[in-house]
Amino acid sequence: MDCDLLVLGGGPAGLTAGLYGARGGLRTVILERGVPGGWAGQTDRIENYPGFPEGIDGMDLAAKFAEQAQRFGAQLETATVARVDFNGTQKRVWADGNEYAAGAVIVATGASPRPLEVPGEEALRGRGVSYCATCDAAFFRGKRVAVVGGGDSAVEEALFLTRFAASVTIIHRRDRLRAAQILQRRALENPKITFYWSTTVEAILGETKVEALRLRDVQSGMVREEEFDGIFIFIGQKPNTDFLQGILELDEGGYIITREDLSTSVAGVYAAGDVRSKAFRQVATAVGDGAAAAMAAEKYLADLVGR
Ligand code: NAP
Repeated sequence: MDCDLLVLGGGPAGLTAGLYGARGGLRTVILERGVPGGWAGQTDRIENYPGFPEGIDGMDLAAKFAEQAQRFGAQLETATVARVDFNGTQKRVWADGNEYAAGAVIVATGASPRPLEVPGEEALRGRGVSYCATCDAAFFRGKRVAVVGGGDSAVEEALFLTRFAASVTIIHRRDRLRAAQILQRRALENPKITFYWSTTVEAILGETKVEALRLRDVQSGMVREEEFDGIFIFIGQKPNTDFLQGILELDEGGYIITREDLSTSVAGVYAAGDVRSKAFRQVATAVGDGAAAAMAAEKYLADLVGR
């Protein structure tokens, strides 16, 4: 399929890029491998996206983003990108057996949860090991769960889990959280949440489901086993850039390096949202990226025609 602008990824950045591209008169296609909205779409409540003073359900916000992009004619397709060829003026992308060609591409494929990489994690994934509280919290009604990590995701998801679980233990490798102050305060004040500071998870134990965790106190070196029914892991993300190795310039973490106009190391290819190397990852910043990348792509395409 031929189009002017091909957007890879249908999270807040990709959907905004699609909206801007289509509204700017470009034939725009957005490829999304799952449900549009990305991680934001799986967030229970988003409180820091302007325009919604009471907060908004992540799924509702994602649906509004998609609706607005489609209203201006962006075509949203379910497809997983397998391979790209960014040589030449026509950029080529292969997804689910189809080939797409576009004058410009915006990569907005986001990031996925980083695994802990400890024994038991892979075997018990989906059997008490989870990376999404909004998706799985209801399975842990009245149970004892652990949350690993000390960033915004860990604390926010721990707070959400208190609505279901009997108790939530935040296990953090340091003695201080890196989450935003407002989230920290809420967690510290929540009677259902306890903290295990300076503690790491060495192994996840259980036959057919999570039964216990092997924990290490990093200061004393003491190792102990403790019973838990579930473990939610929020230790950061890894960018979805496997298909871009050797094609775009990436930083040491695998994130796409962009210039101020969100262009990448290849002319006509832009990056937006969590997938690019940057300091802050918020829905508001992803949306800003999507708009900026689409405007830059529009200018690039106009200049090509004018040449
Ligand atoms: P993050 O900010 O990178 O935090 C990851 C946490 O996991 C850190 O506390 C880190 O510990 C810990 N960690 C990393 N590797 C570990 C390991 N191997 N074992 C144990 N702990 C480990 O990731 P995030 O919380 O997923 O957030 C990602 C981005 O999304 C951030 O920019 C965040 O601000 C944003 N976000 C924002 C909101 C919001 O605004 N409401 C919500 C969710 C996410 P150290 O502290 O010791 O490094």
